[in-house]
Amino acid sequence: MKTARATTSRMKIYGDVGIVAYDQIEDKLQCHLCGKWRRSLSQHVVQAHGWSAEDYRQEFGLNRQQALICEGTREIEPFSKQKLLLKKEWLDEGKT
Ligand SMILES: [Zn+2]
Repeated sequence: MKTARATTSRMKIYGDVGIVAYDQIEDKLQCHLCGKWRRSLSQHVVQAHGWSAEDYRQEFGLNRQQALICEGTREIEPFSKQKLLLKKEWLDEGKT
């Protein structure tokens, strides 16, 4: 039974549609599908549920900017370009 996309309207989901539950203390996000807390949901939904991150976002009403990775995890991920740019601006300002 791998009809994940069609089942969510009937199955129990964890948390609220459109919101990714975030545990600040543990620095983890809750999976809407199984309720487990993971640092990286984008990886988790692929490995545990066979969903792509894109499917997951669409199904649970998350926008494309919605990170599926925790703050702490994001720090070590290279794709946080915006954050780096902001940091650079801030540094440049500090210099003058
Ligand atoms: Zn899950």
